Amino acid sequence: MTVPSPTPEAVPSPCEAAFAGVQEQGAEPGEPLRSHGHAISLAAGHATADPLLDGLLRLVAAHFGVAAACVVPGEAPAVRGLDAGVDEALYEALRVLTRRAHECGAREPLIVPDISADPAWRNLLAHASKPLRFVAAWPLYGAQGEHVGSLCLIDPAPRELDAAGCASLGDFARVAAALAARPTLATSRDIEVPAVDRLALHAELEALREHERLLAHAIAGSGTGIWDRDVVTGEIRYSVGWKAILGYAEHELTSRIEDSYLRLHPDDRDYVKAAMQAHFEGRTPTYEVEHRIRCKDGRYKWICSRGKVMSRDVHGRALRMIGTTTDITSMREMAERLRESAALITNLTNEVPGLVFQRRQLPGGRAFFSYASAGISEIYELTPEQAAHDTACIDALIHPDDLDAWRASFEHSAANLTPWHLEFRVLLPQQGLRWRQGDARPQRFADGTTVWHGFITDATERKRIEAELKEFASTDGLTRLANRRHFMARVEAQLAQARRGGAGAAVMMCDLDHFKSINDRWGHAVGDDVLRHFAEILRTQVRAGDMAGRIGGEEFAILLAPADLEGAHTVARRIQERFAEQPLAVVGDVVALTVSIGITLMNATDMSAETALTRSDFALYRAKKGGRNRIECA
Ligand code: GH3
Ligand code: MG
Ligand code: MG
Repeated sequence: MTVPSPTPEAVPSPCEAAFAGVQEQGAEPGEPLRSHGHAISLAAGHATADPLLDGLLRLVAAHFGVAAACVVPGEAPAVRGLDAGVDEALYEALRVLTRRAHECGAREPLIVPDISADPAWRNLLAHASKPLRFVAAWPLYGAQGEHVGSLCLIDPAPRELDAAGCASLGDFARVAAALAARPTLATSRDIEVPAVDRLALHAELEALREHERLLAHAIAGSGTGIWDRDVVTGEIRYSVGWKAILGYAEHELTSRIEDSYLRLHPDDRDYVKAAMQAHFEGRTPTYEVEHRIRCKDGRYKWICSRGKVMSRDVHGRALRMIGTTTDITSMREMAERLRESAALITNLTNEVPGLVFQRRQLPGGRAFFSYASAGISEIYELTPEQAAHDTACIDALIHPDDLDAWRASFEHSAANLTPWHLEFRVLLPQQGLRWRQGDARPQRFADGTTVWHGFITDATERKRIEAELKEFASTDGLTRLANRRHFMARVEAQLAQARRGGAGAAVMMCDLDHFKSINDRWGHAVGDDVLRHFAEILRTQVRAGDMAGRIGGEEFAILLAPADLEGAHTVARRIQERFAEQPLAVVGDVVALTVSIGITLMNATDMSAETALTRSDFALYRAKKGGRNRIECA
């Protein structure tokens, strides 16, 4: 079982000791001792077979005919869990012995033919649990010349080693050093790195621990926990930080995967398991899922769990998986609040009549609607998606007469960063001609993008009412001709033009003759009909630039522009003729009609419109005075 732990993973150990043919301590001298016959990584606390070194040591033992050959490390390793009956005391004694022999850079081999006869070593081995008589040790050196261990021959009986044997031991020692120096084919955590300077290793170990400590702090500070799952045994181990997320103390929580599934929110269990399964089966590169998990106090938290299978067997089945768990409850809550705000804004803008929009114009000129409320379907008969790419689809709907103003209005607003306001017409496939009113405020961003936030509403009805009001305000209700106020304003404008040297214009006053008698004889309604009848004749006689107005009861005025006296006279005569030729038919009779007309030319020197009108009125007076149905000029 492997666990995520605040302490570093087991440090790869050097080939600290390898034994071959070590006879079990406890056997009587001379008895064949049990050989465990394989290399042992002592620091890792468990045996790791190194067949080559193992074989070499067996070969050495056989060559010298000794009970055992072994390699002991140069410095004291943490010797624990020596299995296969290796006696720790013996090992320790050998280690001390060889270190003493080879310390101070002494490179000669140590040969003790009979320990019991040698007072220098007798005491040292006195603590070994079993008697040992013969020891020969040859120092092993690493690539940098450092003392990494010793190749030892041991035997329970006293022995001699001659010069040739000594030379052979030296040869074997060089081979052993070379074997120990190469990386083994074991897994990464079991790689035995020989010839490691122990001080450097210690420093590295400390650095790793420090790094691990900082990492643990960083992970804990980020609200992240770590889990490590043995897929085969179903065990899962959690870091302290992981437990803290759920409110558990370090010693709490079981390490069974079944229990972890019980903590999942029932609604999330299936998809969490499915995501895990998908990753186990190699269908996803990593396992990543957001789900709810029950805390110690019974409440649920949202977490994001990410992990990866770290090792698989030869069939690809997951063996071990490591992952992190991050508390995302507050993030989810914030996201939820954001979603609610966005939904509120969308709902609000969708309920507002018209189109609420955000129009974005990039420095290159491309424009599009980065936001459009549902009202775009009514305003432009488009969808938000259609306007999201560019505004060409909207430009195509703008009334051709308003398109220039439409484009210029945005250009002006962008150039001056002034509010955009425009009333414009659109030609829509379903609704036809409609008026729209748009208002927005521009905002400029650092990259030159201009964004307008605003809305567009339907202005068709307002425009219709406005037009109606304008007509009411400017026309006479009975005859639909211009009323006096409107007519006078037009004459005033013409006078201004005359003052600027514009073409000449004439003002004509018409007064129906004996109108009172018509009223008296045929009734007021017939009188009204006569007024409408005369208005109709005026309409047919005036040109596009002229204007006819009703300025009193049965008094009408006409502005003829441009016109001279002769032209005006011709028009007056035609009016008189039409009026006389088209008497109004009443029940069983006709109403004979005549009109008196006074004409004057407008002068640039006229004080006002009234001056010209008064002059034509004077001419009219003369026409009346002269017998009616006449035309007089002034
Ligand atoms: P003259 O030939 O001298 O112009 O005589 P007249 O009868 O036409 O002139 P007068 O000023 O004596 O009478 C005008 C009449 O027009 C008086 C008034 O009742 C009538 N009148 C004014 N406004 C209306 C109207 O809107 N409808 C009708 N039916 N009559 C109107
Ligand atoms: Mg009159
Ligand atoms: Mg009259």
